[in-house]
Amino acid sequence: MNTDPILRIREYQRDRVNFVLENVDLAFANSLRRVMMADLPTVAIDLVEIEANTTVLPDEFIAHRLGMIPLVSTNCDVAMRYTRDCNCLENCAFCSIILSLHVTCNDSVTMDVTSHHLELQPHPDQGIEEAGEEQVKRVESFGSPIGKNEAGVDPILICKIRKGQELKLRCIAKKGIAKEHAKWSPCSAVAFEYDPHNKLRHTSYWFETDEKAEWPLGENAREEEPTREDEPFDFNAKPNKFYFDVETDGSLGAQEVVMKGIAELQKKLASLVWALRKVRSGENDMDMPSGGDQPSGDQATAASNGGWGSGSDSAGWGNPTSGGGGGSTGAWGGGASPSRSGGWGSNPGAGNPGIWSSSSPAAGGWGSPSAQANGWNV
Ligand SMILES: [Zn+2]
Repeated sequence: MNTDPILRIREYQRDRVNFVLENVDLAFANSLRRVMMADLPTVAIDLVEIEANTTVLPDEFIAHRLGMIPLVSTNCDVAMRYTRDCNCLENCAFCSIILSLHVTCNDSVTMDVTSHHLELQPHPDQGIEEAGEEQVKRVESFGSPIGKNEAGVDPILICKIRKGQELKLRCIAKKGIAKEHAKWSPCSAVAFEYDPHNKLRHTSYWFETDEKAEWPLGENAREEEPTREDEPFDFNAKPNKFYFDVETDGSLGAQEVVMKGIAELQKKLASLVWALRKVRSGENDMDMPSGGDQPSGDQATAASNGGWGSGSDSAGWGNPTSGGGGGSTGAWGGGASPSRSGGWGSNPGAGNPGIWSSSSPAAGGWGSPSAQANGWNV
């Protein structure tokens, strides 16, 4: 029997893909789903400076609506920087996109202010010489509202104005991931199903009188053998076939979402493998090689600084003799020298109960905001 993973695409459109994934673990399939929804960077409006607003909607209402507008984010992972990784103080051409909007209504009609009124503006810093090649990787429409220059794409309504009303504002869009705010999710929906006949009994259906009539089988049920009346329950059965339907909001294409989702998952696993390998080889080196070879920025740094047996003195993994201070500091804590060992709750003295928390945020432990923002809990 072939046990290699099989991926079969059933339907593919620019912003939607329906596929079946076979011969993988449930945990893997679910990880892919979560990564596609929450870990792929896109651009979204993050700051709004409102100059004039005489519409019926309050400023914060409009700011929120602007944030939800999908902006073209092709190759965002390499074409833009996170502001937190940037050299600038607030925003610059490398880590932000400026959009402006100015609409006034001069006629006695109700006028729609839409995403098509948002105009991409060159950043004032544009052209300043700096190391970095992000901008050349951007597509022409990068950062503009989706469908703006395409015929037949309906714009997104921001608000409606009447004669004499005005809306004038400036937006700063930034790169982010959906773990921080859902506006950065490239997906509008990810349908995920396995075991459509519920042979594994992972689902219990609530019903009035007739379960089969009240819970009709979906499309995916055709892919699998129905349950036979006399079929005994297999306690050891595991799901093996997963049905995905990925629909994006247009900021990224469906293909990019799936491909980069797999790449992102690989990156996360690579940093774990890399850290575990260090444990096995008993390396006592606290310094990280910096640069492009690093599996994944903060996570990798965190792993090397943190627990995972970061040296013979700290011993990691809840060694009761080397600090940790019992239950209060968590099972993973083993930091004999908390100031340098970082993560995994290696904080013997401060009464910090968090298992994952770091005693020294600068060391970028597993509990530090940067590690959380990058996300490891797939
Ligand atoms: Zn910047």
